[in-house]
Order: sequence, then structure tokens, then C-alpha cells
Amino acid sequence: MIALLIFLSAELGAWGFFAHRKINRQAVFSLPPEMIGFYKFHIEYITENAVNPDRRRYAVIGEAEKHFIDADAYGDSAVYKLPRYWNQALELYSEVELRSKGIGPWNVYHTKVQLTEAFKRKDVKAILRLSADLGHYIGDIHVPLHTTKNYNGQLTDQYGIHGFWESRIPELLSDNYDFFVGKAEYLERPQLNAWEAVIGAHLALDSVLYFEKIISHKFPEDKKYSFEERNGINTKVYSREFSIAYHDMLDGQVERQMKRAIKMIADFWYTAWVDAGQPDLNSLLKNPVEIHEEKFQFSKPLDVREHEGLTTIDKESYLRKSFYFAIWRPFKD
Ligand SMILES: [Zn+2]
Repeated sequence: MIALLIFLSAELGAWGFFAHRKINRQAVFSLPPEMIGFYKFHIEYITENAVNPDRRRYAVIGEAEKHFIDADAYGDSAVYKLPRYWNQALELYSEVELRSKGIGPWNVYHTKVQLTEAFKRKDVKAILRLSADLGHYIGDIHVPLHTTKNYNGQLTDQYGIHGFWESRIPELLSDNYDFFVGKAEYLERPQLNAWEAVIGAHLALDSVLYFEKIISHKFPEDKKYSFEERNGINTKVYSREFSIAYHDMLDGQVERQMKRAIKMIADFWYTAWVDAGQPDLNSLLKNPVEIHEEKFQFSKPLDVREHEGLTTIDKESYLRKSFYFAIWRPFKD
């Protein structure tokens, strides 16, 4: 039973493929006039490649830890006390320790710096790749379960809650969400904004776990879960009724976190572009470049820490699917 449930989260990935795509796509509409033409032209790319970082997790060394930070692994209130800048962090902790507990917020800032450089070079491929990646990483640090060592409820007998909150709920219940977040704003100190996102997500963690316990007491096992066909397999999932009850109790939390992610992505893209000296993006549309499929070279999947609790077998099927889906759409002129 558990294996099938895990398989479902494997299909969906962090924030769920559905939510990551939605978040990246939606961020485009908050951009200022000087940017929105370029991003709208490439909106399918920005949307589809929102999940590339998850596809790289088992193929690229150093990728997995970019998606989370186990803030509570550093002790009480660590989320407020951890060094905000990577160099400061390296003065207190070894790089091995930092990476083993996740480098989410530092990586967000690092990716933003790379995006600024790509804008300066007017390197279309890099701008698109890094914009999509940055959207993914910003999305991840808004997920409460990406800020804790209890990332899949495995320490509190709530195994599977990761995919439930970030995949099942948005897929099932986000139809009526209002994703309007207003215009992108310049961030004076983006590294601190990334930490604010982590703090916000971490504060939401109590409700994520506690409410699931409360609702679970009201639902016997056979009502908590149901079966749905996924890719021809009869798969155990959290039931619609259980999902709705939980979602009601969370009182808009998933929607709020998705909206915060969307706004922050637009702010970061805009800030990177301003910091690069506001290059003329419309001129970059005149000579479309072809973007080729991203190829991951590996003989066997990396043995990285699982965030959604995939088994080895599922990991392999996940990778096979990744190859199938990882299409970098060539532009047509
Ligand atoms: Zn991720």
C-alpha cells in the first residue's frame, strides 16, 4: 500500500509538477512592460522547465540539497538565527554539514546572482534556464515541509504528508485559487527576502502537521485513503473527502504559500534584471535561439536524500519518465 502511495508522489515531485508549473507561469504576469514581452514569448519554456531541478536531483551531484533546509536540525528557533549569507554560514559550519541539512535559501540567492550575470551577457539560453530554475527553488522554500528534518512526516507517523500537501492538494483543490499578486517590486537585499520566505514556511509547519493529525482522528483508514488510476496503476491516494477536510482546516494556507512564491519569483526576476542594468529584452527576441534537450549523464541514480520518500525502484521509473518529459522546446521563427 505504502509503495503505491510513494509512487504517486514520485510522479508529482516537489510542490508537485502541477504546482511548480503553475507558479512559474503565473509569475510572468507580474513583470513590468520592459520584461513581460520576452517572458510571455517564452512562457511555455518557463512553465515546462519549472520542474527541471527536480529531474536533476538524481543525476547531478550537489543538486538535491538545493531544494530544502532542515532548519530545525540546527536547534530551536534556528530559522531566525542561521547566518543569512553563505560565507557567514561557512564560518560557523562545515560545508558538508550545511549541504547535508540543505542549502535552500542560500542557493536561491546564488541562482539570482547567476541570473543577473546572464542578463548582463544577454545570454538568452542562460536567462531562460536560470529563470525557470530560480522559480523552482523559490517555490520550494515556500513549502513548510521543505524547512524541517521531519520532511515527510516520518518522525510523527504521518508518512506521505509531503506529497499530500504540495501535490495532491493543489492538484485537487487549486481551481478556485486567486493567483493575482500585483506588480513585481525591486528587492534591496534579496538574500534576506529568501530567509523571510523560509521563516514564513516554517511558521506554517505546525498547522501542516497538527491539522493532519486532527482530521486523521475523524477519518477511519478506509475513508482517509481511496484508490485512483494513475498511469494504468490503481494507486492509493488521500481521499477527496479527507483532502477537502484538511484543506478547509488549513484555511487558505496552500493558496497563500503559492501566491507568496509567485510574487517572490517575479520580484527576483525583476531585481536580477535591474541589477544587470536593465538590458533591452525585446531586442533579444529578434534572433530566436534553439534550445536543445537537456541531457543528464549518469550510469545509475545518485543515492541522495529522498524528500518525498521514493524507493529505489520508483526513483528509476521517475528518471525514465524525466527523460521522456524533459523537452527543451526549440523556438520557431
Ligand atoms: Zn524541488
